[in-house]
Amino acid sequence: MNRHKIIFHDGEFINSRNSQCSIKSQTLHYGNGVFEGIRAYKTLEGSTAIFKAKAHFERLKRSAERMHMPFNYSTEELTNIAYLLLEKNELKDAYIRPLVFMGDEMSLAPAKTSHLVMMAWAWEKYLGDDTCRVMLSSYQRPNPKAFPMEVKLSGMYANSILATQEAKQKGFDEALLCDMNGFVAEGSGQNFFYEKDGKLYTPPLGNILPGITRATIIDLARENGIEVFEQHCKPETLQQADSAFFTGTASEVAGIKSIDDYHFPVHWEDSLGYQLQQEYQQHVRKENFQTYTII
Ligand code: PMP
Repeated sequence: MNRHKIIFHDGEFINSRNSQCSIKSQTLHYGNGVFEGIRAYKTLEGSTAIFKAKAHFERLKRSAERMHMPFNYSTEELTNIAYLLLEKNELKDAYIRPLVFMGDEMSLAPAKTSHLVMMAWAWEKYLGDDTCRVMLSSYQRPNPKAFPMEVKLSGMYANSILATQEAKQKGFDEALLCDMNGFVAEGSGQNFFYEKDGKLYTPPLGNILPGITRATIIDLARENGIEVFEQHCKPETLQQADSAFFTGTASEVAGIKSIDDYHFPVHWEDSLGYQLQQEYQQHVRKENFQTYTII
């Protein structure tokens, strides 16, 4: 089997070329799959540690439950599979993608079976190392009365794809979307923070994905004596902000240079976001997050 090509599929580690799924999968037609984006980091001691494995796999299990998907793996089993996958692909710094997708069902009734694939690959920071130019999207995040916002649901990413495409077409790097009430919500695949007068502000939970990186950054900020307020804001407020950044597993902490034609006055290297970006990079490599033994 090729290196970096081994995936886990329904109980087996196989070459990705030999993996098959049905074209009648309900996920393919209607988008009701659930997934996670997880990172593993080479620690300072040289081993590899999956960052917040428990939080990610618990979110995956909650997502499956909210979508009425039959899914019986335990968090421990999922964590063990992820470590084995890294080992088999000889990966230390890696991005891990579990996806729960449905069996055959052409109606909208809940499918009776589900499948699990897990793959891993080396992936650079999603938004790169430079600060990004952000566009205030013409799209809104889904209404929480239409979708459970705490679920990482495949179908909801069609909204993210539309917003990203719009931003790229207009020459921006990323989109920032508002919620259905016109309050700033999140990026296409990231949570959002801004800095004003030495304090941090971020949209509250409810109309956004409860990001695991967001929670980590709030903790790190408070440990460093930085006040963080979870409160709604309108896009106009951002025109008074000093700096801003995105957080997410794939993007990590990504500085924002500008939103539309407003350029943040504080240089990224002098911002609270930059300080937390450095802290985050140390934090993910420092702790030993492996709480389960490899089977
Ligand atoms: N919002 C959305 C819409 C996302 O897709 C992601 C990425 N999972 C995030 C926020 C950040 O979440 P996390 O920090 O858990 O990766």
